[in-house]
Amino acid sequence: MERRFKLLNEKDIREKGEYVLYWMQGSQRTRYNHCLEYGILKANEMKKPLIVVFNLVDGYPDANERHYAFMVQGLKDVKQALADRKIEFYMLHGDMIENIVRASEEASLLVCDKGYMNIQKKWRFEISSKVNCQAVEIDTNLVVPVEAASEKEEYAARTIREKIKRQLDEFLYDFEEVKYSVNKGYKGKFCFYEDNLNKSLNNIDKGLENMKLNKSVSKSSFFYGGEKKARERLDEFIENRLDGYGEKNSDPGEDNVSKLSPYLHFGNISPVEIALELLKVKNELNRESIEDFLEELIIRRELSHNFIYYNDRYDKWEGITYGWAYETMEKHLKDKRENLYSMKKLENGETHDIYWNAAQKEMVVTGFMHGYMRMYWCKKILEWSKTPKEAYERTIYFNNKYFIDGRDPNSYTGAAWCFGKHDRAWKEREIFGKIRYMNFEGLRRKFDMDKYLKRIEEL
Ligand SMILES: Cc1cc2nc3c(=O)[nH]c(=O)nc-3n(C[C@H](O)[C@H](O)[C@H](O)COP(=O)(O)OP(=O)(O)OC[C@H]3O[C@@H](n4cnc5c(N)ncnc54)[C@H](O)[C@@H]3O)c2cc1C
Repeated sequence: MERRFKLLNEKDIREKGEYVLYWMQGSQRTRYNHCLEYGILKANEMKKPLIVVFNLVDGYPDANERHYAFMVQGLKDVKQALADRKIEFYMLHGDMIENIVRASEEASLLVCDKGYMNIQKKWRFEISSKVNCQAVEIDTNLVVPVEAASEKEEYAARTIREKIKRQLDEFLYDFEEVKYSVNKGYKGKFCFYEDNLNKSLNNIDKGLENMKLNKSVSKSSFFYGGEKKARERLDEFIENRLDGYGEKNSDPGEDNVSKLSPYLHFGNISPVEIALELLKVKNELNRESIEDFLEELIIRRELSHNFIYYNDRYDKWEGITYGWAYETMEKHLKDKRENLYSMKKLENGETHDIYWNAAQKEMVVTGFMHGYMRMYWCKKILEWSKTPKEAYERTIYFNNKYFIDGRDPNSYTGAAWCFGKHDRAWKEREIFGKIRYMNFEGLRRKFDMDKYLKRIEEL
């Protein structure tokens, strides 16, 4: 626990405080949640109630109804699971800093999950400097905490892999949930929050209607948020798809992927739980699939967090890739681009490329896209836009608008990868320069793309 833990201010635990407050933000679950367990431990120790709050912000950057619906579905599970453990949960609504500072006014201790992205870091910095009790942050969404894995921005998977692997024994272990033993509640201040939103957890659609939301994209009927669904999806993956997983089997036609990324994005499931479940079923036949999967779940995903955490320009064109990559793209800026598409044509999936159109449809309709197709999709946006900068901005726009797992460290890192980040230089060619290229024929040759097209058609 110690190395997951960081003091956010220099204040002491307030003995006079009435409760321990866990402000849940990025880890929307009750299982394998180190913040919750620590909150319970401290509450038991101080014999003060633990209160868990979640604050819903109307205009979270780039979020729309699709994201909010998935999130609120998950919060319903959180409320129920906490109630089963006799822990109070309140959903607040409004300005993040104002509400959490206010909710902390009578707290002895504030516990929160770790923020990796700029807005999350800013909230934690401001809140911890305004509250009058100790504030601690716990890194519970990664197997190896971001600061334990490395103290700096890493160059590529090969530079972080061993740093993570040699610490796995320290961080990848099962733990018993702490029993909450305080049997007094604290209603006082929180009655104030008993507003429509709390009630709305029982009627999600109605609750969302009352919020000032960007309604440009409606909720997905293919994914339902929450820790129960996340666990069901993991079990289904292990049962039916795991054996076909792996680099050799990354065929979009076969669809042998976990589709856990929306759940990981909202913290509905912990990567520790996923990895431990896989290790439990490891045998000679599935060994390679499991190793390939853990490479993605742990090494690649944690490399993404490393990039976002140590490089605050992760979302600015100037900050996403390396000198050699900018140089080579600049050199090919004037190359003839045969297929230039407008945003409208792209958004509607009206290009000459049937595979790309299908991938776009998968994203728009379901809120998800197969991993291999995400790479191809972005590479083609680079080929079909006036400049690489325009291509990057278009990718991020679509990515964050339609993917349920959008607005994630993986979103920015995945897009940046298509422009050379964490990659190496390849053979020079038109438009791309030395940036890795992908083509239609390659897809057709390697995979059962007819099967992919059929699946998407049937959506
Ligand atoms: C252009 C582009 C955009 C992307 N946008 C997103 C995004 O918005 N949100 C998102 O979560 N991922 C994104 N990715 C990374 C990756 O494609 C997805 O995480 C993965 O396809 C999700 O599907 P899955 O859960 O079935 O993955 P699986 O193949 O089942 O892998 C399990 C988990 O490992 C992690 N993982 C898998 N592939 C990668 C990868 N290449 N890099 C980092 N972690 C990985 C994910 O957390 C994933 O859920 C993007 C990649 C590219 C190239």
